[in-house]
Amino acid sequence: MATEVLLYIGEPLAKYRFPDGHPFSIDRQRAFWDEARKQNLDRRVQVLPPRGASLDELLRFHTGRYIQTVEARCNAGNGYLDYGDTPAVRGLFEAGCAVAGTALDALERIMAGASVRTFQPVGGLHHARADSAGGFCVFNDLAIVIRSLREIHRVRRVAYVDIDVHHGDGVFYAFEDDPDLIFADIHEDGRYLYPGTGHAHETGAGAAAGTKLNLPLLPGAGDREFFAAWERVLDHLRRNRPEFILFQCGADGLRGDPLAHLRLTPAAHAHAARTLCRFADESCGGRLMAFGGGGYDLKNLAAGWCAVLREMV
Ligand SMILES: [Zn+2]
Repeated sequence: MATEVLLYIGEPLAKYRFPDGHPFSIDRQRAFWDEARKQNLDRRVQVLPPRGASLDELLRFHTGRYIQTVEARCNAGNGYLDYGDTPAVRGLFEAGCAVAGTALDALERIMAGASVRTFQPVGGLHHARADSAGGFCVFNDLAIVIRSLREIHRVRRVAYVDIDVHHGDGVFYAFEDDPDLIFADIHEDGRYLYPGTGHAHETGAGAAAGTKLNLPLLPGAGDREFFAAWERVLDHLRRNRPEFILFQCGADGLRGDPLAHLRLTPAAHAHAARTLCRFADESCGGRLMAFGGGGYDLKNLAAGWCAVLREMV
């Protein structure tokens, strides 16, 4: 079994950014990569370049009409793709395609047996819906990977695990009634934070009832609350026997993030990554794709993502 982690870094991903003054204007990829090199993690991974997604690939999740609208508005370069969080800027369409295409490159390499673990720091755009942008997210790379697993690779039972401080609504609602999408999400309570969803009573619809686990934490919660919630995530995964894991490890739950109010430390990310890798090894042939997700403090995201990568290697 090939175990070297495939890591995706490159300019087309760095261009997934918004104008000055926006929380997502900072060079997140560089902050992560500088810290990873400081920790010598770069020598323990295989670094690969991004690639773009084709229209057909985007259509695995998004509507044609939405894709056209994004391209037109980004080319015009003004206004917003949503209600005011996600500006339509020139180059964003191509950058969104790079995020989605890179995730598919990672998936294809895992399915071809090149590795079992991949990490894409600029990725995990979990708020995008099939027909709308939201919360800085244009194309939902995670949902495109899930659809591709089913349609192209015939892998049905997929686990989606999300520790970004925001609820992964774009994935949750797209698969709410899908009994083979095992969902577990620890986030700040939606009564206090965007997108306002992910309540504990949201456990899946119809035949999927019980396959979704939403664990909201109150503002101010730290590692103690996270570790307790994480045990429930692992129980949920063990009960539901997935074949493949997607891990959105947003770093915006760390203490001091400018957009949210949890007080995690990178120990939370390390613990989650360590136990999730172990579970993947035992139950999924090791197959795990990790995505950086949110994180708007450069020091925090470098520390959180490197904690995850360290456990993965
Ligand atoms: Zn977030």
